[in-house]
Amino acid sequence: MPQPVRIDSHVHFWRYSPEAYPWIDDTMSLLKRDYLPPELEPLMRAAGFDACIAVQATHTIEETEWLLSLAGEYPFIAGVVGWVDLRSPTVERELERLAAHPKAVGIRHIAQSEPDDFLLHPDFQRGIAQLERFDLAYDLLVYTRQLPAATKLVRRFPRQRFVLDHAGKPEVRARKLEPWATHLRELARSDNVACKLSGLATEADWRSWTPEDLEPFANVTFEAFGSDRVLLGSDWPVCTLAGEYRLAASIAFRRSEIGTRPGAMHESGSYRFDRSYVRIPRSST
Ligand SMILES: [Zn+2]
Repeated sequence: MPQPVRIDSHVHFWRYSPEAYPWIDDTMSLLKRDYLPPELEPLMRAAGFDACIAVQATHTIEETEWLLSLAGEYPFIAGVVGWVDLRSPTVERELERLAAHPKAVGIRHIAQSEPDDFLLHPDFQRGIAQLERFDLAYDLLVYTRQLPAATKLVRRFPRQRFVLDHAGKPEVRARKLEPWATHLRELARSDNVACKLSGLATEADWRSWTPEDLEPFANVTFEAFGSDRVLLGSDWPVCTLAGEYRLAASIAFRRSEIGTRPGAMHESGSYRFDRSYVRIPRSST
């Protein structure tokens, strides 16, 4: 039997420039340099990951094309979650071009920086409606307060696969489970959504957090989604604000169900990564 592939579902690469990455502010000066695949690969391998998904970090088609070219160059990049303007009247043509690349697995818009009802705008939803045809997932990057809008969105598109980034960014620093836990459980009732257990340390106190601070949030995530719909992600290099790559990775592996079933929630069995990104059951309704 082929070995399962253990995938870090969330990493970024960039050639830094302040114009291209305006969200990297002075509190994140560590991120103000290039982060490229040769730096990540040994860290990932040492932590027991075989492959990764590269996720967009700025709203340009050029970045997505660059990530896809890196994925062509480095086999350990199994897929790319890119960006197109889903609100554009020409979105279909752009998706068609993107989906022609075998490693294009999903689309993301940094919705956390948009008004809370962004996900529900008719023109954005027209774009979401196109994704299923191209077999692309959609990554939801939202704050806790935007989770109810995300829930409405995923229910309107029951056959579209969605992935929630960073477990919906709970308030780890404030040790506040509610209303995040309630919103997350509600979202998880839709079986066309998976959830990335990633980025939690970045939401904690960067200097003083301990794995125990993250545990209650990881527990709620697993209870809500079940281990089949939880994906591990490091969020490198953003995670380095709060600690090293291996720390972000070890948090994920603290959960025994993941440790014993590596890659279970991903395309496993071979290196074939046929766009599924994650195997999320399509709703029959
Ligand atoms: Zn990220």
